Amino acid sequence: MRVLVVGGGIAGTVTAMALQRAGHEPVVFEARPTGGADAGAFLTVMHNGMDALRAIGADGPVVESSFAALGVELVGPDGATVSTRQFDTGGLAGPRTLTRAACYRALQTEAQRRGIAFEHGRRLVSAVSGEHGVTATFADGATASGAVLIGADGLHSVVRKLIDPAAESPRFTGLTVVYGYTRARGLPAAPGVYRMIRGTRAAFGFTTAPDGATFWFARIPDVERPRAELAAVTPAGWREFAGAAFAGDPLPCAEIIAATGDEVYGGHSYDLPETRRWSTSTMVLAGDSAHAASPAAGQGASMALEDAVVLGICLRDLPDPAAAFAAYEGRRRARVEKLVAASAGQDVGEDRGWLYEHHLDWDCRITP
Ligand SMILES: Cc1cc2nc3c(=O)[nH]c(=O)nc-3n(C[C@H](O)[C@H](O)[C@H](O)COP(=O)(O)OP(=O)(O)OC[C@H]3O[C@@H](n4cnc5c(N)ncnc54)[C@H](O)[C@@H]3O)c2cc1C
Repeated sequence: MRVLVVGGGIAGTVTAMALQRAGHEPVVFEARPTGGADAGAFLTVMHNGMDALRAIGADGPVVESSFAALGVELVGPDGATVSTRQFDTGGLAGPRTLTRAACYRALQTEAQRRGIAFEHGRRLVSAVSGEHGVTATFADGATASGAVLIGADGLHSVVRKLIDPAAESPRFTGLTVVYGYTRARGLPAAPGVYRMIRGTRAAFGFTTAPDGATFWFARIPDVERPRAELAAVTPAGWREFAGAAFAGDPLPCAEIIAATGDEVYGGHSYDLPETRRWSTSTMVLAGDSAHAASPAAGQGASMALEDAVVLGICLRDLPDPAAAFAAYEGRRRARVEKLVAASAGQDVGEDRGWLYEHHLDWDCRITP
């Protein structure tokens, strides 16, 4: 069956690979004119996300573009280490850190290598369902038809509103997150480990890549500002904003921020605690479009990867799309809503086994 996948981010690209493996014909429609993503920002694909990629044999390109994340060290406002936690990788695929741009590129390149078609510069604006499937219309006037449509179009999903015009809008979490990347020498090093620092006003985390580069983020309490205003902030503006949040703290945060050039990116953090409707008989959501989470647990990408594989399995085993969508939602909703709630409370807890030890087996069988 021909499947229209809207959004060529993490969920869309991997859903397309899973659908192809399931015997379907996916086509990916991505709004951006080219691949790539926000400069400066990075993410960690956790054990469960790597496991999902491994289920469809797509973990290799991410491993090649990333470095291992080995654990977390918590540091208090006075600079003293409060606790350390090694990621238990026994028997599991270990977590990997990479830039968002590298992650998108690795996945899209792999999907294209597998023969999946991508149409860039196609921003979905509407979709109409009929007897034989669904027809999508894009901002440039182009249209495309398929049996079903996957809404992998991220936080501000158009497909979510097409499925349910009364769908809740994303909720501002009260945090602005600034991400940076610097190759400056002489900074404190945290090789492969996330050093998480609680300042007096904001939280900071950084890790050092094998080549000596520093990846950092700052989570700063903030008021919500219009999107256009945020989009106009320059790298220097983000550096200043983030630096001010740690001014006076006896910690290396301000020093690392000041040593960063233009590879810095900021934005508000939003989440979606509950999306009432995930599907119609021809359209379904995957990834952030259904369940965006605040970044506290670092699980948004991994949950999107799990969605992609489960949706592929359900559409492989259940010929009726509505039944497949119901089976997919039944397997995903409770888990992702628990994650969104835990991330919102900034308290994912010490026992993260329920997150990390999740395993997907492509050869399982789903029955109606
Ligand atoms: C700065 C930042 C740092 C993050 N750090 C982490 C982290 O460390 N760990 C983690 O697990 N998660 C992290 N996340 C969250 C993670 O990136 C998301 O959860 C994940 O990308 C979700 O994947 P997705 O495919 O659902 O959405 P996205 O990756 O956002 O992809 C959506 C795609 O849809 C496209 N699109 C949007 N609208 C349309 C349309 N109308 N028509 C066609 N295409 C459209 C977009 O251009 C985009 O390519 C971070 C997020 C941000 C913003």
